[in-house]
Amino acid sequence: MKIIRITVWALDLPFYEPYRLSGGRHLVEALDSTIVRIETDAGIHGWGEGCPWGHQYIPASGPGLRAALTMLAPAVLGMDPRSLDRIGEAMREALPGAHDAKSAIDMACWDVLGRATELPLVTLLGGRMEGPVWINSSIATGAPDEMIERIQRARANGYRVHSAKVGGTDPDADIARIDAIEAARRPGEYVTYDVNRAWTPALAVEVMNTCTARGWFEQPCDTLEQCVHVRRLTRQPIMLDEALLDFQIHLQAWSGQACEGVKVKPNRLGGVSAARQVRDFGVSVGWRMHVEDLGGTVIADTAAVHLAASTPAWNRLATWLATAHHSVDVAPGQGARNVNGEIMLPDAPGIGVEPALGVLGEPVAVYEV
Ligand code: MG
Repeated sequence: MKIIRITVWALDLPFYEPYRLSGGRHLVEALDSTIVRIETDAGIHGWGEGCPWGHQYIPASGPGLRAALTMLAPAVLGMDPRSLDRIGEAMREALPGAHDAKSAIDMACWDVLGRATELPLVTLLGGRMEGPVWINSSIATGAPDEMIERIQRARANGYRVHSAKVGGTDPDADIARIDAIEAARRPGEYVTYDVNRAWTPALAVEVMNTCTARGWFEQPCDTLEQCVHVRRLTRQPIMLDEALLDFQIHLQAWSGQACEGVKVKPNRLGGVSAARQVRDFGVSVGWRMHVEDLGGTVIADTAAVHLAASTPAWNRLATWLATAHHSVDVAPGQGARNVNGEIMLPDAPGIGVEPALGVLGEPVAVYEV
């Protein structure tokens, strides 16, 4: 089987409401997603997606992703998409970095492999583990009562795991947010306080050692070294996200005792293949993990849920669905969807999503042998 054509679409994903994080430094009103379809000489195709969370979040952007595809797509044309490690090697040879663009191609190749073997991705990634995949909310930063109101809306849709965005330069404001959310938290609910790199180590130590929260704090400071410093002086479990740009940094995080959990995001790491490597390492060292993607449509969401569902329940915390924030849905009713707080996976081969071409519009690039 050979790749004969790679078609690329750019798709704007507007948010229902503007989203602020990292103390308000980062504002996103729409995501710039890139969707790819890989076609083969066997008549089987697959879908993948690369979608950074804006261009301030990590070193990635929508236009940069599509520029990277001008080098990556020709490098894999003619190759067997089922040979995923060979595809990964060819992409690393063609262009260092550009993990979000590599993720789009890698994801589409996994979809082809699933369709060719008539198996859902979850089976190819190790098999469905016991227990539900809980859905994780994403609560934009704001005043305490605004954030609690957003949590109540998520709760009404079945969410019992929440990711509340905090972080800023005023420790009193963050302590007030966290204490108010803790007071409103219901039995059985879990909250992660996601700082998105906003705190200096001193601020992190001050807030975390003063507030009432016993739950997770995520990416308190910018660098891994700063987070290690905070880890040694605070008591709550720490999860890392933006600092983890490749597998080597996960090794450093483990050996440096930086965290008890990590976010596992295919688009940040270079694809489902790279995310699976991190997931397997995380299981071996006992990390707890949120397995989800940076953003995107139901394509990226569902690929990540396949990885989450094949992760042992003890290591798996919850999964966020980016689709819930956007007014554009490329495949209504398909893929991973929230059913009263639990994410349901399709049984279809591959990722299990076939987007509507009418929603994607005209392609922006076609690469052919
Ligand atoms: Mg995060």
